[in-house]
Amino acid sequence: MIPFLDLHKINTRFEAEFQLRFKAFLDSGYYILGNNVKSFEQNFGAFCGTKHCIGVANGLEALRLILEGYKVLGKLQEGDEVLVASNTYIATILAIKQAGMKPVLVEAEPKRYNFNIEALEAAISETTKAIMPVHLYGQLAPMEALSKLAKANNLLIIEDAAQAHGATNGSGAKAGNLGDAAGFSFYPTKNLGALGDGGAVTTNDDNLASVLRKLRNYGASSKYVNELTGFNSRLDEVQATFLNIKLTKLDEDNARRRELARKYISEIKNEKIALPEWDGSNSHIFHLFVVRVKNRTDFMEYLKEQGIGTLIHYPIPPHQQEALQEFNHLSFPETEQIHNEVVSIPMSPVMTDEEADEVVLAINNY
Ligand SMILES: *Cc1c(COP(=O)(O)O)cnc(C)c1O
Repeated sequence: MIPFLDLHKINTRFEAEFQLRFKAFLDSGYYILGNNVKSFEQNFGAFCGTKHCIGVANGLEALRLILEGYKVLGKLQEGDEVLVASNTYIATILAIKQAGMKPVLVEAEPKRYNFNIEALEAAISETTKAIMPVHLYGQLAPMEALSKLAKANNLLIIEDAAQAHGATNGSGAKAGNLGDAAGFSFYPTKNLGALGDGGAVTTNDDNLASVLRKLRNYGASSKYVNELTGFNSRLDEVQATFLNIKLTKLDEDNARRRELARKYISEIKNEKIALPEWDGSNSHIFHLFVVRVKNRTDFMEYLKEQGIGTLIHYPIPPHQQEALQEFNHLSFPETEQIHNEVVSIPMSPVMTDEEADEVVLAINNY
């Protein structure tokens, strides 16, 4: 049996340290926005190379609070259009809607599952104020092209970095430090995952950081002094203790994922299976290893019989979701085809070479 993802195996590696730090946390008697959150913010900000990191409740809130923060600063307002890839996870779109702005869906390109740049350029209107690129599956969005477009049209870039902790571009800059602000999720399955919910915003913008520190905590500048109409969206202190421990192993884990990806890409040889396109660089952290197959149901059934777990990321495109009826009339052929064909095969830093061999063999025999 090779599970799609063994979260228990990932986390037991840290058990002794978790126990130690949990004891210290318990004994401290201080459970909200304490020293663990503070040190995690410093550590994760340093990891991403940004001046600021603000811990928040989850990834969706990270994205939404960035938009709310820009509203407070007068850089964005309700009704502004925000460009987003039509094949993203629904959270990106919900964040824009919840902040009272208008998501404008842009067709994807089928090789790297990111923006089709021509479609993106064509979608820019007078009310477009921001682009929200998603580093989907762990691979950086085409940030150079995006930055050029953003500069020429005076748009903010807000990265959805929920799947890309540690992805690094050719100049050594990391996800979270490639735009004006970025939202991260520490949902347990992410490359840096908590044992519950968690999220963070990274930015080099002093004003945005200062507003977000208030917004996440009832708009308060100090206890019971409320300057803004805020939210309750704090990163949990106990999750921060776990994240601080796991962060020390993130680079190593990402390197292991790339090693497994290299193996898959060089050894999977089956005409029915389309492999991901990757330049071999650190711009991909393989949050997911996504292949494409015409007859997906059959392929997944077959792997299941071989004892190999798979998942689909994602089965229904946002514009066809019941929750997003305002987009139901739209058509994005590339996006629809992506959603019809993608399958994620096992990928995790604790997978052994033998397990990967088994996956390769099963796929080659399909
Ligand atoms: C996981 C994820 C989110 C949301 O994170 P939560 O912590 O679950 O709210 C947002 N965007 C993308 C691309 C994600 O994968």
